[in-house]
Amino acid sequence: MTVFAHPEFDEHEVVHEAHDIATGLRTIIAIHSTVLGPAAGGCRRWHYADSADALTDVLRLSRGMTYKNAIAGLPFGGGKAVILADPGQGATPALFRAFGRVVNDLNGRYITAEDVGMTMGDMEHVALETDYVTGRAQSGNAAGGDPSPWTALGVFLGIESAVRARLGRDSVSGLHVAVQGVGNVGYHLCARLHAAGASLSVADVNPTNLARAVGEFGATAVDPDQILFMDADVVAPCALGNLFHKGNITDIRATVIAGGANNQLATEADGDALRARGILYAPDYVINGGGIICVHHEHQGKSTSDDVLADVRRIPVRLKEIFERASTTDRSTNDIANEMARAIVAAGRKQKIEEALSA
Ligand code: NAD
Repeated sequence: MTVFAHPEFDEHEVVHEAHDIATGLRTIIAIHSTVLGPAAGGCRRWHYADSADALTDVLRLSRGMTYKNAIAGLPFGGGKAVILADPGQGATPALFRAFGRVVNDLNGRYITAEDVGMTMGDMEHVALETDYVTGRAQSGNAAGGDPSPWTALGVFLGIESAVRARLGRDSVSGLHVAVQGVGNVGYHLCARLHAAGASLSVADVNPTNLARAVGEFGATAVDPDQILFMDADVVAPCALGNLFHKGNITDIRATVIAGGANNQLATEADGDALRARGILYAPDYVINGGGIICVHHEHQGKSTSDDVLADVRRIPVRLKEIFERASTTDRSTNDIANEMARAIVAAGRKQKIEEALSA
């Protein structure tokens, strides 16, 4: 099967696969759209079952970035990278430098940052080979650095928006939140939820990350297979995607799903099934936009953390609009968000065509 026939192809502009013999790097960079600007999105390093699995993941994530950046009002298109982590292969500086050279070959059409399996330190190695990299340590109050605390803040504010809409509660105080994945985003989210008076159940396949959340926030550790189906007020997925599908939606007991993970729904139709069950779903790429907002300000080079904060605070406002439109039109929240994002991209495309014709 060629990439054009892939079910997730969806008019991608570029799908770039690269291999570096010296380091063993295998990477796929997918650029879904550059209509609104250079394609921006993080790089995920993961142990995929096979390269087909990695391709499906990067195509879905890349399209999600187009929608995420559009709906956040950023001058970015959508793209994403994956590095296929081979068992036994070290995450060496040389590997990340090889990845940086692949990013550089795209001449700025794609701007990278850290995602699952990557750290700020890894980005420094990438930056030795390309300027098209963000998520790097900054000094003073300059915008940038690890995007995950900003992602977590946006998710926290989004959870507040969702519990207001679905449960009529003004805060998360006294609510029970089940968090799947307590890595970078999940950890910072738990810190905010704990400080705001929520009780926490957490699950993680990484025992170190799990112990940290249990120890610091008094969270209850739960089996990873059970966490999404807990008798909680809110489920906050903060690990990987493809979580909710027709085989398990009837098992969900929470009435709010609002978390940082990308691609939480297996298919768009699963949003209808959640709505039919009275579960309010905060569309993932809307609620988790805090990190890419930080990336945008870092990329600009002259913003401060205050600028990032001001933009992250708009996430719950956008969610409120989506929840209200979904409620009045009796449609799923993901359907509404997709429609809004596509309209922004279509307007950008129209403007580009008009500018080209008048040049
Ligand atoms: P991370 O690698 O730091 O954390 C992910 C955690 O999930 C790890 O602790 C991992 O062990 C755990 N995990 C993996 N599979 C699991 C499972 N089946 N059950 C329970 N735990 C599991 O990654 P992150 O940066 O925190 O990202 C988490 C999610 O948020 C990802 O979907 C990512 O794409 C998304 N996201 C991250 C950012 C960001 O700023 N880092 C921005 C937007 C979206």
